[in-house]
Parts: sequence; structure tokens; C-alpha cells
Amino acid sequence: MSIFLDYHATTPCDPAVVEVMQGFFSAPPTGRLAEKIIDSAKGDISALIGANKEDIILTSGATEANNLAILGSAGLSEGRNEILISAIEHDSVVNPARHLAAQGFVLKTIPVTREGFVDPATVAGMVNEKTFLVSVMAANHEIGTIQPIGKVAPIVQSAGALFHCDATQAVGRIPAGVQGIDLLSFSAHKIYGPQGIGALYIRPSVRLTALDFGGGQQRGLRPGTIPVALAAGFGMACRLVQENLDKDAKHLSALTQLLLGGLPHVILNGAISPRLPGSLNFRIPGIRAEDVLLDLLPDIVMATGAACGSSRGGPSPVLKAIGLSDIDADSSLRLSLGRQSTREDVLFAVERLSVFFERQSRSALK
Ligand code: PMP
Repeated sequence: MSIFLDYHATTPCDPAVVEVMQGFFSAPPTGRLAEKIIDSAKGDISALIGANKEDIILTSGATEANNLAILGSAGLSEGRNEILISAIEHDSVVNPARHLAAQGFVLKTIPVTREGFVDPATVAGMVNEKTFLVSVMAANHEIGTIQPIGKVAPIVQSAGALFHCDATQAVGRIPAGVQGIDLLSFSAHKIYGPQGIGALYIRPSVRLTALDFGGGQQRGLRPGTIPVALAAGFGMACRLVQENLDKDAKHLSALTQLLLGGLPHVILNGAISPRLPGSLNFRIPGIRAEDVLLDLLPDIVMATGAACGSSRGGPSPVLKAIGLSDIDADSSLRLSLGRQSTREDVLFAVERLSVFFERQSRSALK
């Protein structure tokens, strides 16, 4: 069995989630019963972010939720033509924003500090009467830094622009709500739920336009029959992370300290705090992260950056945005822990990483 240290990429389904889905896969409910189950799941999903279930659209994941939020709001620009997104957004925010730029909108990037944070004062200096949409994520998928959403939201609101927040990595790891947020995206498979389902919260006053014609499902905003089993699994996953939020965070913070304490020579990318519990991204000068990854496989599964960015190639845009050189970005590893991670996993990883670093530095001296 491999030791899995890549919980930012995806998480194993909780056994209770699997159990609830199994029943619905083998005997799929239809009609009113299906509606009732989906309604109840939406209740659990919305409760996790302090929203109403009527304001939730179920999607295939956060990618689609981000796409729908950004492309679907283009029709609401009312003479405003600027979009602001932070420099460390996920590709599923960057790509639709670039698409709108190709259609004539002006896309501006909000820089981040070397510590990996959007500065609310920078947003205040960039947002104006021309801005129609601002998108800033709640927590970063590569370096784990938690963004000051509570400070950014009122700045965006007072400028009369829409505020979208990709909360995919934050929901279920830290308290995350919709206060001051018009559109919020998240995903089941980051919170011990199934892959293939996510959600977009839409403030009732925001009337998004549909991306295609569809078959009339979910207010015409998202085509396709809602997968009942996945929705029920997502609902269960939301209930479980809500119940375990504090416990999980304490467990993950303790393990993160143990991990960092065992690796004194690494340089952390992004500030140590505030960051997601269980999230570490660091570099080891003189070492290629790709070599570490391959050397430790199949015993330890880690990442060099966003899983979805692996096909893009080149240095991580997130690490570049916090000011790292290409060489430093290439020597950076992302380790993310989860509910099932243990002390033994961490100690094993520390041991294997230390042996690798030691071996590399000896061969460099030869
Ligand atoms: N946003 C962020 C910040 C993510 O980390 C991810 C997943 N890597 C996504 C969006 C896309 O999520 P999904 O896999 O549910 O489409």
C-alpha cells in the first residue's frame, strides 16, 4: 500500500459515503423519491456553507462550477467590461476568464504577495465602476494559503461588482460561508465524497445565463439528470466534514508540524499561517522535485504542483506568482495530508525524504 500525501488532488471516499451511494446505485430512485433525496442532499451541502438549498446548483465538479460562474455571469456585465482574478487561481477560473477576454472583456490579474496572499488594499486599488466580476479563491490548491475573503468581499460589493470565490480547497477544511459572496464553487471529491459532483452557490439576486440549452433541469442552468447517488454521497460527505471540522483540523495541524519538524532543510513556499491544515509546499535547493517524486514512488504519492496542471508542463504559475524562479519552482514539492493520514505515514515520509536529500547532497559534493 502506498502512503498517500496528495489530498489536495483528491480524497478517498468516506466508507459512510460509499455505503449511502451503493444503495442508490443498485436501486436508483426516480420521480418524487429522487427529488426528495436530492433536496435533502442539497440541504446538507448548503448547510456546510451557510446557504439555502434553493441557491445550490449541482455540477460535475468545481471545474464546471467555476466555468458556469464566470461564463454565466458575462450577460450581467451591464456596460462594465473588466474582470479581475487573482494570480493564483486554478485553471478552471483562469481559462473561462481568458475566454471572456478573447470576447472583448478586459482581464486584469490581482498580484499576490511573496507569502501567497491577495492584499485587500490591492483589490481596492484595482476594482472600480468598470469592474463587473472579481474572482478570488478561498484557499490555494498548491501552497495552501488562506485568502482574506472576509476583507475582499465588502470591497468588491461596495464597487458594485459581482464576487466569485472558488472555495474548493477551503470547504470542509476550514469554516467557509457565503457572506458577501455572490457565487461560490466547491467539490465533493476534496471532502471525502465522490468524484464527478460539485456545487455552485448562486446568490438569489444573481441571474446567471445558461451555457447551453439543456433539457430544462436545474432552472435551465445545468443540463442532465442529477445523479442521485452522487448527490446523496456529496450530502453525506458534507455532513461528515461539518461534524469533524475541528477534529480533522487539529489532527492535520499536529501531523503538519511533525512533518515540517522532521525536515529542517526545506524552505516553505508561502507563509506558514494562515494556511490550510495539512497543507505543505516546500523547496529543497539543488534538488529536482520530479526526481524525488519518481524515487519515492510507489511507496509515497506526492505532487509537484496542481494535479490538473501536470499536462500543462512548465513551472507552476502559482509558484511563479509568489516570485519563485523557474529553478526554485522545479525544486518544489506539495505534500497534503488528510483525515486518514497517520503519524506513521508522516514519520515514514520524513525518513524517506531525508535519506533522498542526504544521498543527493553527498553526490553533489563528489
Ligand atoms: N479549484 C481548485 C482550487 C481545485 O483545487 C480544483 C481541483 N484540483 C478545482 C477547482 C477543480 O475541481 P474538480 O476536480 O471538482 O473539477
